[in-house]
Amino acid sequence: MIYMDHAATTPVKPEVLEAMLPYFSTNYSNASGVYKLARFNRKAIDDARAVVADHLGARNDEIFFTSGGTEADNWAIKGVAESLKDRGNHIITTNIEHHAVLHTCQYLEKQGFKVTYLPVNQDGLITPEQVAQTITEKTILISIMYANNEIGTIMPISEIGKIASDRGVLFHTDAVQAVGQIPINVRKENIDLLSLSGHKFYGPKGTGALYIRMGLKLPSLLHGGGQERGRRAGTENVPGIVGLAKAIYLAYRGLEDKNTRVRELRDYLINGIYERIPCCKLNGHREQRLSNIVNFSFGFMDGESLLLLLDSKGIIASNGSACTASSLDPSHVLEALGLSRKRASGSIRFSLGEENTRQEVDCLLNILPSVVEKSRIISPLYEQERWN
Ligand code: PLP
Repeated sequence: MIYMDHAATTPVKPEVLEAMLPYFSTNYSNASGVYKLARFNRKAIDDARAVVADHLGARNDEIFFTSGGTEADNWAIKGVAESLKDRGNHIITTNIEHHAVLHTCQYLEKQGFKVTYLPVNQDGLITPEQVAQTITEKTILISIMYANNEIGTIMPISEIGKIASDRGVLFHTDAVQAVGQIPINVRKENIDLLSLSGHKFYGPKGTGALYIRMGLKLPSLLHGGGQERGRRAGTENVPGIVGLAKAIYLAYRGLEDKNTRVRELRDYLINGIYERIPCCKLNGHREQRLSNIVNFSFGFMDGESLLLLLDSKGIIASNGSACTASSLDPSHVLEALGLSRKRASGSIRFSLGEENTRQEVDCLLNILPSVVEKSRIISPLYEQERWN
């Protein structure tokens, strides 16, 4: 099996699993108890918080553990909306955010908030000027993803952070695809709120965190017990938190070398596809992108059949967002780039990981031309497009 769907999720690293295991068995106690075992687990959570904070340039008490990226996004956006509703009702985001952000904004629109969905250009980017021009005296939040999960493009986060800070507007970034792949410093980049998710960087699923800048009074999303200093209720997922911290530590260790290697594989794959397959196009900016995501539109075919054919050959890829994989709607991200519905539905995302090899990419490149051809032959789009 050749796994190339790392942007959907990554395997848990053996070292991460090893770090987590004792917290399922011997160290199972609730971290809120007063006895020794509970204090031991409390310390494990505090240590994990320090590791996560350290890798983001944050303070320990600015990190709050969550059940993943979706919860962190919901908390950040709904929290700011609720706390600043008397000051304004305008939120700025983009039209290529993950649904965890888009659907949260749509929910808030139903509550009377106004949301501007900045349109990206054909490379999948917005400019800092677009953001600056859209801010009004009613703007309370700018929420812009660090890197896109479908096409891998990286937004100009530092510049947007500077504008937000100069204009006194809070800035949240969904950094779920960026953490563990790009060095991030929340202070230097003027980020007030940042969401991350453990399972995107070889940590466990169902783990994540929200960075909340010191002094920011964000109301709780989940009410109940006093965990996470009274701001996020629910018994702490100690094994998950320990695993998340181990994973972020490992992700940033030797990052430059790993990125160089994966980037070489990515470019080898991009060039190989262009050399072997006619009528295809890379989606997203050619340079300003994560080192691991390759998204191609192959004309005259349906991406789903290509995915199934690849799967039958042992190659696992995706048609973009894991959340829309089961829906027949073409990706909102690809449509935002200006692709027609037909083109968008004939698109595939290969997302590489540090364990992928050149031999695996060669294997994919050998198989791909024939499966693309087969998908085109069985597609009604092939006949239609040929005559258009
Ligand atoms: N934001 C982005 C950019 C993502 O890629 C994802 C997951 O695919 C999420 C948010 C949601 O994260 P989680 O799966 O941890 O809820």
